[in-house]
Amino acid sequence: MTDCDTPKRPLRPRTLQVRAGLNRSNFSETSEALFMTSGYVYGSAAEAEASFDGSLDRMVYSRFKNPTVAAFEERLAAVEGAEACRATASGMAAVHAALVCQLKAGDRVVAARALFGSCQWIIADLLPRFGIEAVFVDGTDLAQWEAALSQPTAAVFLETPSNPTLEIIDLAAVAELTHRAGGRLVVDNVFATPVLQSPLALGADVVVYSATKHIDGQGRCLGGAVLGSAAFCNDVLAPYLRHTGPALSPFNAWLLLKGLETLDLRVERHAANAMKVARFLETRPEVARVLYPGLESHPQHDLAKRQMKGFGGIVAFELKQGKAAAYRLLDALQVIDISNNLGDAKSLACHPWTTTHQRLAAEAKLAMGIGEGMLRLSVGLEDADDLVDDLAAALGAP
Ligand SMILES: *Cc1c(COP(=O)(O)O)cnc(C)c1O
Repeated sequence: MTDCDTPKRPLRPRTLQVRAGLNRSNFSETSEALFMTSGYVYGSAAEAEASFDGSLDRMVYSRFKNPTVAAFEERLAAVEGAEACRATASGMAAVHAALVCQLKAGDRVVAARALFGSCQWIIADLLPRFGIEAVFVDGTDLAQWEAALSQPTAAVFLETPSNPTLEIIDLAAVAELTHRAGGRLVVDNVFATPVLQSPLALGADVVVYSATKHIDGQGRCLGGAVLGSAAFCNDVLAPYLRHTGPALSPFNAWLLLKGLETLDLRVERHAANAMKVARFLETRPEVARVLYPGLESHPQHDLAKRQMKGFGGIVAFELKQGKAAAYRLLDALQVIDISNNLGDAKSLACHPWTTTHQRLAAEAKLAMGIGEGMLRLSVGLEDADDLVDDLAAALGAP
């Protein structure tokens, strides 16, 4: 493999998302090579031995390392401004590994209550089985964080903006409280993407992504990533991944690598379209409230302006007439699809109460701010006026 000519001067994120991790093979290809291989061959028995005792740094097995996966990891680390990155087969594998790799029986975890359903399951149901205490707080209430983090805590987990209610949590403040409690702050940055929010720069220790969402951005494959310091990724996380095996397929890594090249362009369009859709929904009498961090009416709008570079592509709104009205609207849409995925080029709408958050008890959903009339829109890359027309027609449907 020949390295590309990387100038000594630092490159900006927009350049890095196109070029970081480019490690051309001896064929000098323009586009990144796809190495669909599980294993690697050694020139001699002694070389194989040296590869296993660590004296030789090279590819050994694709559960540990693969050139295409490594290119994706290097590129995402550069875009995020992280020392290191490890890719996983899905976002949930990333969340699970980022937490479990650093926890043991007797530890305590504090998390925000408003979480993606499966993240909530890992913390509330899975970790306690192994003797790890889980405490939930209202992520928007710093007094609750302060109280919960007045005791030694191994890890804190949160997502901001949260799914699906788009709550914004003060990352710098929670990072400081977490460090005082002796723990690591792990941030699920899926809704913001690396383009709009840099949790590590605000004091977080670890960032996780479902790369399935905006990083692929075209609804093609699953993937995940964990980013943080080289010490955390190499010494704490890597052995856990190596021996438990949630490895990303090289094919998916290649799709995600190409997805990163257009990430900022797509995220900017998602956000611009989401703003138009949110403003339109605010004018409609059928809509009780619209949740979008870019709206002045959002309870944490000022905080969102301070810690984010833009407000993302997800909009939630509550219909006055409840579930029946939500179903009527979904069934009447002609452009926007009904789907629980998000961050796709195609606009997608779902009813969190009966899909992504179905598993939770009604009281838990209400405590998270999810009502029966709530819909979540992942605003895509179509013409925003067509999306507004689609919603207007569906809202007016009998
Ligand atoms: C989708 C999602 C995940 C899980 O990612 P998968 O790739 O589906 O496993 C985790 N957190 C958030 C906020 C998500 O939106």
